[in-house]
Amino acid sequence: MSVLVLAEVDDGVLSPATARIVAAAANLGPVDVFVPGPRAAADAAAAISGVRKVIANDSSLLADTLSGAIETLAKDYIYLVSGASTLGKDVIPRLAAKLDIQPVTDIVAIESPTRFVRPIYAGNALETVTDSQSKHVLTFRASAFRPAAGGNAAPVEVFDNAVQSAATLIAAHRTESDTPDLSTAQIVVAGGVSVGSAEGFQLIEKLGKTLGAAVGATRAAVDAGYAPNDWQVGQTGKIIAPDLYIAVGISGALQHLAGIQGARKIIAINSDVDAPIVKISDVALIGDLFEIVPQLIAELERL
Ligand code: FAD
Repeated sequence: MSVLVLAEVDDGVLSPATARIVAAAANLGPVDVFVPGPRAAADAAAAISGVRKVIANDSSLLADTLSGAIETLAKDYIYLVSGASTLGKDVIPRLAAKLDIQPVTDIVAIESPTRFVRPIYAGNALETVTDSQSKHVLTFRASAFRPAAGGNAAPVEVFDNAVQSAATLIAAHRTESDTPDLSTAQIVVAGGVSVGSAEGFQLIEKLGKTLGAAVGATRAAVDAGYAPNDWQVGQTGKIIAPDLYIAVGISGALQHLAGIQGARKIIAINSDVDAPIVKISDVALIGDLFEIVPQLIAELERL
């Protein structure tokens, strides 16, 4: 019942999401991890508790070479698993098509080796799926699982069977930021359209910086041009699971809440006591965000 997990590597560094996927996959059987990245990333994967073996390959970086490499390895595994991330959404459908297997995606809970729970209708309902195929191709939502601990020392094997591709990677462009990654941050401060302008969003960023938090936004704020697209949280944005989510001037529309279901504590700053986000928050500060947020920053800076 072995599992092969596709690791996430970002700019040569193993993503923290991989430890969460490994923790989930360990419920299914012994876990090997395929690391498409440099040796340092492979060593970081080998240190994750529960990993039996790491298979490292620094040349398979495109979705078609990655899916080709995993297809080559697939005969030794019952489960082929990745995160429900941009990478997973690119690689897993190709792999599933190559193997002629129906994938089960966006899994948030494992009920048994063949029964999985996944959200549908933008997170408004959960469906339980029985996967009776002899091999399983799965994606897990990293935010739904706690990360596996470190301290392991699994062996690292190099996969040198390079897969040919018709495509060539010319360049990868990344958004430079000195704030934590939104997808994996422990604290997220997010602003809504009521922040009013891109300049107004600097207040949200300042609160984020004071707390060492990542910054997010609603789709309405992104559509208004107040915040960049990659800050969007929700059904059509990022799915996040911080320990603390601070929602500033956000109403809590269903499509937004779909992205924050994994948040452990929610603080809402809103002028409307009846806003949906206030109803589900652990703490609500009712009032004008332009008064509350500067006071909050001043208090935090005094600490
Ligand atoms: P509003 O709903 O307008 O809320 C503004 C809030 O600010 C209100 O609660 C108000 O009381 C409060 N407020 C106003 N002034 C102040 C003040 N001065 N101080 C304090 N509080 C104040 N949305 C997402 O966020 N993410 C998604 O991924 C997403 N996907 C979608 C997909 C589809 C198919 C559709 C149809 C919609 C999607 N939306 C998504 C949009 C979503 O339905 C909402 O329109 C959006 O989330 C609302 O954003 P908001 O909370 O910023 O704005």
